[in-house]
Amino acid sequence: MSDSVTTDIKIRVTGLRKSFGDNEVLKGIDVDIESGEVVCVIGPSGSGKSTFLRCLNKLEDITGGTVVVDGFDLTDQKVDIDKVRQHIGMVFQHFNLFPHMTALENVMLAPVQTKRATKAEARETGQRLLAQVGLAEKADAKPASLSGGQKQRVAIARALAMSPDIMLFDEATSALDPEMVGEVLQVLRDLAAQGMTMVVVTHEMGFAREVADRVIFMADGVIVEQGPPADLFGSPQHPRTQDFLAKVL
Ligand code: ADP
Ligand code: MG
Repeated sequence: MSDSVTTDIKIRVTGLRKSFGDNEVLKGIDVDIESGEVVCVIGPSGSGKSTFLRCLNKLEDITGGTVVVDGFDLTDQKVDIDKVRQHIGMVFQHFNLFPHMTALENVMLAPVQTKRATKAEARETGQRLLAQVGLAEKADAKPASLSGGQKQRVAIARALAMSPDIMLFDEATSALDPEMVGEVLQVLRDLAAQGMTMVVVTHEMGFAREVADRVIFMADGVIVEQGPPADLFGSPQHPRTQDFLAKVL
């Protein structure tokens, strides 16, 4: 991918800094993410992975540097962030489904509310997406009757309902019982195979090794090292990466 002269940069992060008060959490992040690329972000707890991800759709105010998504500079006050966000789906550790709505209604909500689709269109798309994540038969189920893995798959379908061209995942499997991790990772694997641009913060090193085009190791608010999974996992160069991998692998 990287040797192509027609690379299509989807996300360009330049000198990104983020502070909470006087706590500088991101200390100058530079990264380009290409269309269709699957980037996994790994690193110790507190290293700034979630904050980095949240800066990519401006869920955090950006302290310094720029984040350009699909050509839109998120730090430019004139840019309509809601428009940009419609192209970016985000899935969190906790699913945040609306408990009083069925799975299908959860998936239909955003397209209808934003007037992207009529109810009938949203219903059709919703049913297709629930089928895509293996939950066609759960369309009318309320979240309380679903397992954690099923809830997370509904949350992914809900994010996909806005037809995003970028998907951000923040530890999407960390709250799941071990036996449910696989079914959610399979959905991510399918999305990757379909060419979705994905930034995946994960503790699933096996998944990162198998699916990522590139793995970024973050620590203390900087990118310490990055590369293809075979390189980063197989022959990490930096002592901090070596130390981290020794603990988690
Ligand atoms: P990670 O996802 O790698 O565990 P985070 O991005 O969640 O790391 O957090 C990085 C640092 O930023 C931590 O020290 C955390 O306490 C701090 N932090 C994150 N969000 C906030 C916030 N909303 N207010 C203040 N500090 C925050
Ligand atoms: Mg986090």
